[in-house]
Amino acid sequence: MTAPELTLIVAATRSMGIGFQGTMPWKGLKREMQYFARVTTRVPASSQAPQNAVIMGRKTWDSIPPKFRPLKNRLNIVITRSATPSHPPSSSSSAPSSSPSASTEIRVPSVEAALQYAHEASAGTGARVFVMGGAQIYEAALRHPAAKRVLLTRIDAEFDCDVFFPLDLRADGSEEAAAKGWRKRSREELKRWTGEEEEVEEGGQEEAGIKYEFEMWERE
Ligand code: NDP
Repeated sequence: MTAPELTLIVAATRSMGIGFQGTMPWKGLKREMQYFARVTTRVPASSQAPQNAVIMGRKTWDSIPPKFRPLKNRLNIVITRSATPSHPPSSSSSAPSSSPSASTEIRVPSVEAALQYAHEASAGTGARVFVMGGAQIYEAALRHPAAKRVLLTRIDAEFDCDVFFPLDLRADGSEEAAAKGWRKRSREELKRWTGEEEEVEEGGQEEAGIKYEFEMWERE
């Protein structure tokens, strides 16, 4: 079975800000959230996998309104220090604890354990594994060699932020990223990988008076 790659998916301001006081810094980007949902849910055509996995930090899990979690049609894996490393991955409900199809989240103590769980759950069927934040978990994921790709929504605006994406992918400041082997891919490559046709046209999007653009970066 091939080891799954990690794809980080994030929306960030011009200064790479991603969050404020435990929530998103902006409001009203409904189509952006729909893009996130489609891309993380869509299983590659070549795959037999029933669903992809989304890995997130405990604070990001807490920031999702209870009625929307776990995120549907995806295996939800939450990283928290309160998960016990010496036991099999466990869910927080009374559902069968190690079932990958449990209708609740799975709690694990590290990115490594999350990746291992996702790998075992999909057993090499080609399911995708996404890291969906927040900053602490992006940081841990970027240190992992499996982190191969970043799907960035570049928001062309500034908002008050108290957490930032830990890799500088600013349009004018990507030297750090380049030095670490990160390269921006073309729009065609982004479309091909995500399966998105409509939403990634040149010039980007505008919603609620906020301009933004979808990008894909890969580590060579
Ligand atoms: P995270 O969501 O990254 O969660 C942090 C928690 O994860 C910690 O409190 C801890 O949980 C657990 N954790 C962190 N590191 C480790 C580790 N090494 N081992 C085990 N567990 C670990 O929190 P952040 O504050 O960084 O990010 C949240 C913010 O990001 C919010 O404002 C949210 O809205 C925003 N966000 C923005 C996104 C975007 O695309 N713009 C996407 C996702 C989130 P515990 O305390 O339980 O032990």
